[in-house]
Amino acid sequence: MKYKIPFSGRAHSFTKEEQDTVIEVMQKANPLTQGVYQESFQKKFCNFMDVDYAFALNNATSALELCAQLCQFNLGDEVIIPSHTYTASAYPFLKKGAKIIWSDIDLETRVVTAKTIESCITSKTKAIVVVHLYGYCADMPKIMQLAKRHNLLVIEDSAQAIGAKIKGKMAGTFGDFGVFSFHSHKNITTLGEGGMLIVKDEKIASIVPLLRHHGHCDFSYDRKNYWLPAMGNLDFPELYGNKLWPNNFCLGEVECALGEKLLERVELINADKRKRALQFIDELKEFTELEFHRVDSTRHNYHLLVARFIDKKRDTFIEKMSKKGVQCVVQYYPLNRYDFYRKAGYGDAKCPSADNFYDNMVSFPFSHIMDNQTFEDMIDITKTVLSELA
Ligand SMILES: *Cc1c(COP(=O)(O)O)cnc(C)c1O
Repeated sequence: MKYKIPFSGRAHSFTKEEQDTVIEVMQKANPLTQGVYQESFQKKFCNFMDVDYAFALNNATSALELCAQLCQFNLGDEVIIPSHTYTASAYPFLKKGAKIIWSDIDLETRVVTAKTIESCITSKTKAIVVVHLYGYCADMPKIMQLAKRHNLLVIEDSAQAIGAKIKGKMAGTFGDFGVFSFHSHKNITTLGEGGMLIVKDEKIASIVPLLRHHGHCDFSYDRKNYWLPAMGNLDFPELYGNKLWPNNFCLGEVECALGEKLLERVELINADKRKRALQFIDELKEFTELEFHRVDSTRHNYHLLVARFIDKKRDTFIEKMSKKGVQCVVQYYPLNRYDFYRKAGYGDAKCPSADNFYDNMVSFPFSHIMDNQTFEDMIDITKTVLSELA
């Protein structure tokens, strides 16, 4: 079926300057990977986030895999992960040998809290993955206090939350690691794929370039007998006892150059999305059977626009919307209910709010380049369908 308002329509447009950057760097960059544009993208990202170390990567899943690798899980070590998130928040940790404990979410904000995490902590817990889902920054100050008390590593999956802040500090800059995505579906994209990893610790930051690129990194001196091939210089027994295998997770120069440019308007994009989300929520205020999370501040970047039905009419609603050309969807299958995780032994979870949210949630088409008329049409159709259902 062809939808008038598809869920995943064209989600981005690029300015003339951004298009020119791509063409220019495509012809000018040498090499086309790991060069000056990677360096300046990382520097600009650090400035934007107010952090010391950030590394451009081919996507956020690779960033999460690096985090999992750097956690160095031993047999039986546990990591706490929300059951309500995208699958990429979780499986990199399974690959690296951790045991997952599913954390519930707060039904109103749809993210984890210090309280939902605390009930999952055991003597085996080594790390926590906090996901700022839908673009809403979880209560990081409280979560960091809890993590300190229990000596836990904190990974912030900020794939959806670039630019979201709490108390003036960016999502992704509180924990030991902060992960960002520039996938096509996110608020900004480096041509389909892309990611960034923020690392807090200086020593760990010094080995990420090697882990990112086959165990190699630049030599800071002129090598004697330069014609001999450089041997991998990933050798940090004092840190990890030589237990780290490298990867190739690099992002190309053209993508880096575009990413750097897009950082100039990410806050504008976020502000536009927030304004629209608030308009949508306010216009539907009378329909109290639909529960939105209304946040009139930069704590939410409204990457996605979601709501929860309190009267079990979700599926009928989506069907009726679909008949009128609007393609709403349901998102984030609770991971413990996913066959993949169940078969791996992770089918058990005490996450009633995550289950409730998933079973009653709806996600609206919400690209920031949707034109105003289409957006108004979506509001009108939503009102009509809700009135029919009442
Ligand atoms: C998109 C997303 C990812 C994965 O990002 P990629 O860049 O596509 O690898 C991870 N976690 C969350 C919450 C996401 O939304």
